[in-house]
Amino acid sequence: MNKERTVKIVLVAVIGVVTALGAVPLYRHRHSTMPVIAGPGVTKVIKLSDYAPTLKGTMGDIDVFVMEGKEPGGKAFLMSDTHANEPAGLLALMALVENAVVDKGTLYVALTFNASGSRNTKPGDGYPLYFDIPTEWGQVRFRFGNRDASPLDQWPDPDVYIHYPERQALSYVDGRNTNRTWPGRPNGLLMERVTFAAMELMRKEKVDVAMDFHGAETMFPVTNCIVAPQKSAKIATMASMTVKAMEGFDNHVEPSPGNFRGLSHREIGDYADTLPFLMEAPIPFLDQPTGPKTVKLLIDGKDDFLLSLSKKKKLFVSYDETGWPMDKRVGQHASVALEILKQFSKKNPERSIKLSGFPRYAEIVQNGIGKYFHDPAKADPKSVYFE
Ligand SMILES: [Zn+2]
Repeated sequence: MNKERTVKIVLVAVIGVVTALGAVPLYRHRHSTMPVIAGPGVTKVIKLSDYAPTLKGTMGDIDVFVMEGKEPGGKAFLMSDTHANEPAGLLALMALVENAVVDKGTLYVALTFNASGSRNTKPGDGYPLYFDIPTEWGQVRFRFGNRDASPLDQWPDPDVYIHYPERQALSYVDGRNTNRTWPGRPNGLLMERVTFAAMELMRKEKVDVAMDFHGAETMFPVTNCIVAPQKSAKIATMASMTVKAMEGFDNHVEPSPGNFRGLSHREIGDYADTLPFLMEAPIPFLDQPTGPKTVKLLIDGKDDFLLSLSKKKKLFVSYDETGWPMDKRVGQHASVALEILKQFSKKNPERSIKLSGFPRYAEIVQNGIGKYFHDPAKADPKSVYFE
């Protein structure tokens, strides 16, 4: 064997080892699961593909936790992890599934709405792959995902993503963004199939209210708010005013633009008889001028760059040394959701939705969201689901 050939073989071997070492954590992340305990209020767990068979067997298919009250009433569809790098909604809805009991009406809860995105990451931004939430019995580990579905599940991207059916030209990457693929279609891109299945669920089950939980940068004007189209605006305004008056936190209302297609707060209302709401809680981690994207920043929301920008009035939320902690963001989502259901029920008594056992803002801020997660090792194995 000549020397040149030996060098080439060694180089290929080194590149192979380095690539494999880099791939192992990503492979593990993609195949890891988060245990969720179906609590006392969960009456059945169905698959999203029950409403669109073209989703079956794909990474887009997910569990939907159904919580039916003893009394019939209205129905609500709640989803988190539409953007899996905005996890406050996931924590809020997991606490809902594990603790709440519905007295009247029905809730449908999709925890990892973009399941592929929750198994994706953003290496260029140095995203952590996981984050832990402390509880009385140990840590609960959550996957930290990305805004878009993984190219492993939907590829190749088009040069320009053409929204269906409005034909608006959007960025190529928005084809993998489940908040640009509403209302979807049964045989389109995988993410269009996901949103189509959710639309079918809402149309067939006659869902009254849809809530989509997000997080947004503190430097982005559409943050710390409820985004609502005209048909949902009154309820959103009442909910916003009530949480401000009764619970002391700001959460203004932003109108859903009529000419920006593909978003849940636009298309759900246009393509079903459902009132959509999209909740944005501030998430400093997503702002661009911050320090390293650490788990600490994700959880406590404290950052010196944002603090100095706040003093220059560059942020759209109040910001001080206390940052913007996860419990505050989760608590806001919980209280705003409860208030929207309450305001909807007031206006539509025959379709009212009533539940108990879901903590509000002050309780979550005081106790920490971890208090509401139960130990899967001590739960009935039949009630433990892996998301
Ligand atoms: Zn989002």
